[in-house]
Amino acid sequence: MTGKMRLKHNTKRKRYLVILLGLVLAVAIPMIIRAIPHEAKTRVINLKAQKYGYSPERMVVNRGDTLIIKPTSLDVTHGFYLDGYPVEFIIKQQGVAFQKYSWEGEDGKIKTDWDKVSEIEFTADKAGKFIFRCTQTCGNLHPFMTGELIVRPNTPYHLMISLSLWVVLSVFLLYRNRGEIEKREPFNLFERIPWLKRLLKLRGFHFFVILPNFVVFYLFILSALWGSPVGNRNIAIIFVWILWWFALKAIVVPLGGRLWCMICPLPAPAEWLGRKSFTAVRYIQKPFKGLHHRFLGLQKNWPKALRNIWLQNILFLSMISFGIILITRPVATAIVFLVILAMTFLLGVIFRQRIFCLYMCPVGGFLGTYSSASVTALRAVDPEVCRKHKEKCCYVGGEGGWACPWNQYIGNMDRNNYCGFCTECIKSCPKDNIGLFLRPFGSDRVLKGYDEMFNVLIMLVVAIAFSITMLGPWGFIKEAANVTESGKLIPYFIYLACIWGSALLIFPGLFIWIGRVSNRLSGFSADHRTMTLRLSYALIPVGIFAWIAFSLPSVMVNYNYILGVLSDPLGLGWDLFGTADFPFEPFYPEWIPTIQGVILLAGLYFGISRGFMGLDPLIEDGSVKVKAMLLPSVFAFLVIQVLMKLYLG
Ligand code: SF4
Ligand code: SF4
Repeated sequence: MTGKMRLKHNTKRKRYLVILLGLVLAVAIPMIIRAIPHEAKTRVINLKAQKYGYSPERMVVNRGDTLIIKPTSLDVTHGFYLDGYPVEFIIKQQGVAFQKYSWEGEDGKIKTDWDKVSEIEFTADKAGKFIFRCTQTCGNLHPFMTGELIVRPNTPYHLMISLSLWVVLSVFLLYRNRGEIEKREPFNLFERIPWLKRLLKLRGFHFFVILPNFVVFYLFILSALWGSPVGNRNIAIIFVWILWWFALKAIVVPLGGRLWCMICPLPAPAEWLGRKSFTAVRYIQKPFKGLHHRFLGLQKNWPKALRNIWLQNILFLSMISFGIILITRPVATAIVFLVILAMTFLLGVIFRQRIFCLYMCPVGGFLGTYSSASVTALRAVDPEVCRKHKEKCCYVGGEGGWACPWNQYIGNMDRNNYCGFCTECIKSCPKDNIGLFLRPFGSDRVLKGYDEMFNVLIMLVVAIAFSITMLGPWGFIKEAANVTESGKLIPYFIYLACIWGSALLIFPGLFIWIGRVSNRLSGFSADHRTMTLRLSYALIPVGIFAWIAFSLPSVMVNYNYILGVLSDPLGLGWDLFGTADFPFEPFYPEWIPTIQGVILLAGLYFGISRGFMGLDPLIEDGSVKVKAMLLPSVFAFLVIQVLMKLYLG
């Protein structure tokens, strides 16, 4: 071993030792805090329940305390289900409550019944944060009626804070000189799984994957219009806003990028109409307006000034301004989908290609930016082959496939953002030069404009805002957001001003400032815009994991609603599979905050590490990279701390 190699080896060893010591410290500190003795007390809590919150909304006690809860409802009947504790009761008016108790029957089965009580006593013997939830459908926002019991010392929270500091330290040590890590060979799934390519090349493939989704989706719209008006009993609300939203953020986008766009049923009818075909390609020899197809309608091109995602950013913010209404009122969901459907037809008649998807779809913006992190990518196998191929059938259309409906040229495509995974180029390329590549998470580490940076920051702000509104215990915020029921316009406008102001002014302003200062701090001579856009990539993994953490409780807590609506999709009292009255039994709810904490740690790790990697093409020197990444890492760390406080603190 040469002297230089030995030095490198020793530096690496020291680095791993520091990381290990950091981990020991990160675990030890919360354990030491946990060992500090607390005096146990008896606490009497007068708990008032009122649509859609409890007072007090947070109960902070010490481990070992005896709690005597005296509940009453100020309006309708509510419930109280405490995660992690065998405490459940129904709250009526004037201090009347019914406590659930259970026993083992002679047949060995667990039986339950309700006891009329005026107070409920139990010992807070587990430390951490425990959510209590309403179990009685009390109104539109019933699934979001929660409160919090904090049993100190809140060890899981302390552990996550110290681990997040450890993650930041470790990433800085590991990634400052990332040049040492070898680059892997691209892994082309089409080479390993040839039948997959054959399947995607089939002309009918796209149509037949959309079809079932198309049928189900439009049945959901019917259900949203004519089924139960109660959100948690309507299949449209439960499947779209609980199951689909979670699957999109946690599975589809991280694994398949814009895979959803491949099967999205909303733009499909307009596309079929425009092509005058469900499956076949209508190829014309002589190009019309540069493409080898003629579509129905005016076939105009989208204005150049609007070829960005600013419109999508504004439309997304507009949509989430009614977020809580949208996800609790089936008719609102139906209206949004019908408006989208109408827009796809209107735009389809005026413009050619998927203009709605590219520039107007409210969720299309984040689908694009977040897809850049996905572990799969459709790319040209050999860009040189594309360069030499004059016809460029993938772009202008060929006999085998339609011209790229997303207006992308795969020959030089280096990001997933605007590839809708429609599979047409796989079919049209006569050179068989398209591959589906597997790659590490967070690989397209470039943002190309401030529209994309704003999208990333908007998504972060909305993840925080939704966490506060929907998962938090603050009834007055839910009331402000729920304007159509509460009728309180001023709190609603304040609520909107907070979200829009943070999303369009505070967060972007702060991050642009961070970009400038980081650029100066690093002493690197990149222009501010380039540096800011590079650094903002770090927030994409943070955002993806923040959304996964936010969406997780809706599945773990509300899965019974999924089973319920499966048996009774229209809310007409059916019981098709015997699950219509599946009891409210959240799935290991006491573990939700810890799992959310781990997810956020993963977001922090991927965010900062990908931020470092994004600087690789610009900066070689490790210490310059460290200086450049310092402030964006603090920003990412603080965002994660806000979410940790909301989920665990
Ligand atoms: S048709 Fe195939 S070879 Fe030609 S430019 Fe497109 S992807 Fe490349
Ligand atoms: S034609 Fe190819 S590049 Fe264009 S959207 Fe479809 S899959 Fe993506």
